[in-house]
Amino acid sequence: MSSAVLPTGDAWELDGRTVLVRVDFNVPVTPGPDGPEVADDFRIRTAIPLFQDLQARGARVVACTHFGRPHGRVDARYAVEPIRRRLDELCPGVELLENLRFDPGEESNDPAFGASLVQGRDVYVNEAFGASHRAHASVMVPPRLVPSAAGPNLRREVSFLLDALEEPARPFVAIVGGAKVADKLGVVRALAQRADTVIVGGAMAYTFELAAGRAVGASLVDESAVASCRDLLATGKVVIPVDTRGLAVGVPVGEGGGDAEPVDFGAQIPEGAEGFDIGARSVDLFAQTLAPARTVFWNGPLGFFEDPRFAVGTEAIARLVASSSALSIVGGGDSAAALKRFGLEAQIDFVSSGGGASLELLEFGDLPGLRALREGRAS
Ligand code: AMP
Repeated sequence: MSSAVLPTGDAWELDGRTVLVRVDFNVPVTPGPDGPEVADDFRIRTAIPLFQDLQARGARVVACTHFGRPHGRVDARYAVEPIRRRLDELCPGVELLENLRFDPGEESNDPAFGASLVQGRDVYVNEAFGASHRAHASVMVPPRLVPSAAGPNLRREVSFLLDALEEPARPFVAIVGGAKVADKLGVVRALAQRADTVIVGGAMAYTFELAAGRAVGASLVDESAVASCRDLLATGKVVIPVDTRGLAVGVPVGEGGGDAEPVDFGAQIPEGAEGFDIGARSVDLFAQTLAPARTVFWNGPLGFFEDPRFAVGTEAIARLVASSSALSIVGGGDSAAALKRFGLEAQIDFVSSGGGASLELLEFGDLPGLRALREGRAS
């Protein structure tokens, strides 16, 4: 699959017509003097050029989004009102439907709910990359019913994550971190096929270390993934940490242990001790591995970065990726949050807006929402 095969609405005649645009306005909201306010409007602002283009072509724009997890019930905490107010300031004239997830039909991919969204609307645009890995009604049903297109941001996501990584400038080095190794094995496998080297860090690395015969103490591991990690190590493409920072035996990471000094372990973590970050030698090893790279993909923190004591590895890697002259592509979620925290976002060539969606696209080469657009009725 490539971005080139996604339908566009560039040739649509839109004067006097109504366009339904599926966006991802699942934004952070904070209490304000006049009720809840949008705390970060980045996701709203990225959709404005599309809305303005559609309006300039004479269309009436109706947008729809999910917001939080109301689980199919109307819940005032997840009403889109604060988002609607901010949208109205940024781009007047765009209607925003109420939270799609107030209706159980959204997540169950109910054809009738999907059809209700395009009732009285002429065409559909999917501009919600971060929602396109879920087979939900607002993503799956409209393309079957009305002419449909991929929005510009959605196309850009696919272009960076698939086209750029399909024939990458080499060496291509990928970095995968995070905690849940079972969730990431597929993407590590897919990256090991395409990249020259895959660096693995974060808690998921402990299962790889166990597979390599190393001691990991009481660190987080997933026994069921050890055999798969061993297979991945056997490809010779996977580089894992050579040392660990963590807490000594009996020191809890959270309450009460929050101020405890981290300990630098070598390659072996003592029994009962727990790893929470990569150590300095691992940062050096990863820096050497990244130095010649001409393409870099990074997803997932290298340690328990929410705790400043264990953000050292993640920050070091973020700085290396940001200062690299390679084409740098970062999967969304925690890595995007880390970049933001360290003020490095602007130095990255492309930061994906969808954490889960970017990993699924890399692993499977396609997403349900993209398939729906390609297979939809001819536009
Ligand atoms: P995931 O959801 O699998 O992408 O994992 C992201 C989470 O993993 C973040 O909340 C990190 O703080 C956490 N994490 C990464 N490395 C470690 C580690 N070594 N120990 C504990 N948590 C970690």
